Amino acid sequence: MERNKIIIKTSIMGIIVNIILVIFKAIVGLFTNSIAIILDAVNNLSDAISSIITIIGTKLSTKKPDKEHPYGHGRIEYIASVIIAAIVLFAGITSIKESFVKIISPEETNYTIVSLIIVSVAVIVKYIFGKYVKSVGKKIKSQSLIASGTDAYMDSILSFSTLVAAIISMTLNIGIEGYLGVIISIIIIKSSIEMLKDGLATIIGLRADRELTIKLKKIINSFKEVEGCYDITLHNYGPSEIIGSAHIQVNDDMKAKEIHMLSKKIQAKVYQELNITLTIGIYASNTSNEKFELIKNDLVKIVKKHKEILQLHGFFVDPESNIITFDLIFDFECKNEEEIKERVLNDIKEKYPDYEYFIVVDKDYAD
Ligand SMILES: [Zn+2]
Repeated sequence: MERNKIIIKTSIMGIIVNIILVIFKAIVGLFTNSIAIILDAVNNLSDAISSIITIIGTKLSTKKPDKEHPYGHGRIEYIASVIIAAIVLFAGITSIKESFVKIISPEETNYTIVSLIIVSVAVIVKYIFGKYVKSVGKKIKSQSLIASGTDAYMDSILSFSTLVAAIISMTLNIGIEGYLGVIISIIIIKSSIEMLKDGLATIIGLRADRELTIKLKKIINSFKEVEGCYDITLHNYGPSEIIGSAHIQVNDDMKAKEIHMLSKKIQAKVYQELNITLTIGIYASNTSNEKFELIKNDLVKIVKKHKEILQLHGFFVDPESNIITFDLIFDFECKNEEEIKERVLNDIKEKYPDYEYFIVVDKDYAD
């Protein structure tokens, strides 16, 4: 809740700052006959629109979960950041087009000292404000704020180039506005494509944040009954709604009621400290048995021969059915998973032919 208030407050500031800039720049632009300054004003208007989209996105994303959307509406925030990035991309394309027009047919401009001072003040305001919005966005992990902050900051550089071009045209009588415009437009287009990619990647689904999985594992492993924690998956439905699962390994002499209590305690602690709704699966480990230890050690040796295998876990021998189970995690780069799995199976079978094997290939979902 606190986070949304910060986003909305920062966005309202953005609207006010940009509307003031639009008014000043439009007046200066009309008086000096500078297309660059008028375009700049239009650009500020689009920034005000980005802030409005951020506010609408934030409001919609906090809507309570319902039957159709049981995971809530948190991902709307990512969609908002994609829309803002698309607006910035559009602004970049417009400004590169206008810059080329300026190179081909330069227009007479008549800058005055007063107009230049107003543009300078606008540059400074926009630069400081852009940096501020971006830092707030980074702190509270809001892609929309990062996008609009980057946008504002880029705009100030664009305005600065207009200023430099104006001073050069006043003193040296050379028109470089168009050329500078092209360079800055390319920078804007490039950064907007990066923002688009970031927003879309979050919607597609990213690998879980490494810092978060390390914290999660630390909490789970802090319970003395837990012998290992594997197969972490985390699904993000907006910055404040994370659902996931993990496998824990416990000794095979633990009773169902003990495992029940253990998993309840883990779930409560994980929810309390990380706000993650976690489902827990169980792997059993054999109570110390020399023969099984030997099999496991040999299996570790076999697996180590394949650098494509990132992890071996969940090793368990069921003495009643003579079934051995274990899981393997392969590197995503590995192209012949099945073949390597077969080789591991054959090698271990050769040494211990009296057992049946049940191998699961897990995906490398998280660190
Ligand atoms: Zn597994």
